[in-house]
Amino acid sequence: MSATVDTRTGLVEELISRYPQVPPEAVLKEDLLRTGIAFDDAALTNNLDGTVKPKSYFIFSFDQKPLTELGAAAAQRPPEEIALTGGPHELRRTIVSVRVNPTSPYRVSRVDGGLCLSLEGRDLAEVTLPPMPEYYRHTLSNGKTVMETAPTIEWGYLIYLTVLRLCQYFGAHEECGFCDINHNWRQHKRAGRPYTGVKPVEDVLEALELIDRHDDGSTHAYTLTGGSVTSTVDGLEEADFYGRYAQAIEERFPGRWIGKVVAQALPKADAQRFKDYGISIYHPNYEVWDKRLFSLISPGKERYVGREEWHRRILDAAEIFGPSNVIPNFVAGVELAKPFGFETIDEAITSTVQGLDYFMSRGVTPRFTTWCPEPTTPLGRDNPDGAPLEYHVRLLEAYRDALRRNGLEPPPGYGEPGVGKAVFSVSSFMDVL
Ligand code: SF4
Repeated sequence: MSATVDTRTGLVEELISRYPQVPPEAVLKEDLLRTGIAFDDAALTNNLDGTVKPKSYFIFSFDQKPLTELGAAAAQRPPEEIALTGGPHELRRTIVSVRVNPTSPYRVSRVDGGLCLSLEGRDLAEVTLPPMPEYYRHTLSNGKTVMETAPTIEWGYLIYLTVLRLCQYFGAHEECGFCDINHNWRQHKRAGRPYTGVKPVEDVLEALELIDRHDDGSTHAYTLTGGSVTSTVDGLEEADFYGRYAQAIEERFPGRWIGKVVAQALPKADAQRFKDYGISIYHPNYEVWDKRLFSLISPGKERYVGREEWHRRILDAAEIFGPSNVIPNFVAGVELAKPFGFETIDEAITSTVQGLDYFMSRGVTPRFTTWCPEPTTPLGRDNPDGAPLEYHVRLLEAYRDALRRNGLEPPPGYGEPGVGKAVFSVSSFMDVL
């Protein structure tokens, strides 16, 4: 290791020069996602009363500290995302989801009337905040906010409908080791924030009506998601529980948005029901490829479905939706998490690429989110620094190579790919394509 990498600045600069095939925008974005950002009080929002779109906590906390340790950012929310431009690397516009970490070496501050991102005190980029969308200024007839009912992310592209704020995989032997969905529900409830466990269909429709009416043309897709349903919710099994929202949305707004669902890998007949309800893109997330790690990191998925069956169902779903419309997610970085993970970056990349080739050679294009080591999860607690930045940088290159090797296009439903154009905010996979 050279002397310069003793600092975070040194590490980032070293990786930018060692991997010139990966744009500096993506290196920086990955580091921000795995590390989180500190915010000066003056760079926070005025919640729903200001001109900047606040962080909605759309599913997980995606913060590197619990709400009780966020300081001013707990009362005055940070922005949902930031857009970076300029700076010493002359960054093209790069959208980054906000993960708050008051002890991060990255800081957003107000300077001369504008906002600036710095690393260890050195300016890195100009920061633009997402404007408050007009539809957030309206409330449902029962007083609920659009931000809580139907928040938008990816710079307004995606309406994120976490209609079930809890997962029925419960406790250490079932919850995925990186996931704080159940904890996040508890912390928001404890803080007295509005945070609805099961969103009524009528609320979702009313929020979508407000979005439809006031949208400036940004929204293109919705995602229906939440925890896994192993028994029933409102008397419905998983396919019908999530499907009923799609059915209602498609009846009210036929074809208005691309309909997506994130759910367990369900039997083929259930996947068909999703399709019949009006869903066009299915995300049966496999989380981590390696067999041993899957059973340790996603014990609920192993227990209720099993890894081989999970993969079989992904391929079955490809027959229903078309392979390019089945886009399973994995959480990039957890394969290196202690105590179970791989010892080296090489092993982690090799394993993950095996998974990519397994699916991509069959026309299915996985995608990934960058692991946020949330402190109340077992893996976040044991690995507060997340995975090494070099792993994330190499994965971007490996992912792009795998896509080309298998002759596939960027997955649909994410907007335009490319540096300066991508809006997907929780990993840089679209920025590098
Ligand atoms: S299936 Fe795993 S990742 Fe998904 S909500 Fe449940 S515990 Fe979290």
